[in-house]
Amino acid sequence: VPTFVIDGLKASIEDKEILKGIQLEMKGGEVHAIMGPNGTGKSTLASALMGHPKYEVTGGSVTLDGEDVLEMGVDERARAGLFLAMQYPSEIPGVTNADFLRSAINARREEGNEISLIKFIRQMEKKMKELDMNPEFAHRYLNEGFSGGEKKRNEILQMMLIEPKIVILDEIDSGLDIDALKIVAAGVNAMRSEERGFLIITHYQRLLDYIKPDYVHVMMQGRIVKSGGPELAEKLEAEGYDWIKEELGIVD
Ligand code: ADP
Ligand code: MG
Ligand code: MG
Repeated sequence: VPTFVIDGLKASIEDKEILKGIQLEMKGGEVHAIMGPNGTGKSTLASALMGHPKYEVTGGSVTLDGEDVLEMGVDERARAGLFLAMQYPSEIPGVTNADFLRSAINARREEGNEISLIKFIRQMEKKMKELDMNPEFAHRYLNEGFSGGEKKRNEILQMMLIEPKIVILDEIDSGLDIDALKIVAAGVNAMRSEERGFLIITHYQRLLDYIKPDYVHVMMQGRIVKSGGPELAEKLEAEGYDWIKEELGIVD
């Protein structure tokens, strides 16, 4: 069972401290949700965990199964089993979706043990069907000209094929209508297992109606200020964030 530990993580962008000591421990089989107002550093957390060069880690540690993640390059993190579905996935002209997926799968495998083309195509087609994706998306350039919803589905397709240990989903629900949201949630739920932990970042409780979290954390001003169970998400949906600010004496 994978264990992912974030201990006192601090990160800055352009010398401005955004993450002010994030504390979070998750294990395979668990789904953790992070909620919080806009601009509190949720996407910064996701990017810092994946090693985006724009974010400078200034303190704390991150380990996956005891291995120091912060010492790893971006590719190494992916190979170690970390996966991020980005809030705004990038377009990569010239690289087809299928090529990208196949190399991402093989990057997680030992040399000499690469997935065969036939097997890859079979798996990809199966997963695309589950996600109700048009088969032509396999041959389109990565995210180029994809609608918001198509990009999100494509991120989930990647997750399903790559089979990561720790999955971070950053606002996977944004831009999805209710039918697409259900399909994406079903894709995520199908991947839930003891072998995998999920960190689900969302602004809205709605997603959590379809992907039931075990733990809910509230992030404000670069810190996790409150943790609880699914009932915490429901309270936030009903009452907003002001009561937490009052409780903690946060002024913004
Ligand atoms: P959230 O995902 O919770 O909405 P973000 O992590 O996107 O929050 O942003 C946190 C803070 O960092 C905000 O004040 C935002 O303006 C700032 N920020 C995020 N990305 C950048 C960037 N690339 N350059 C400068 N400031 C940034
Ligand atoms: Mg935001
Ligand atoms: Mg964000």
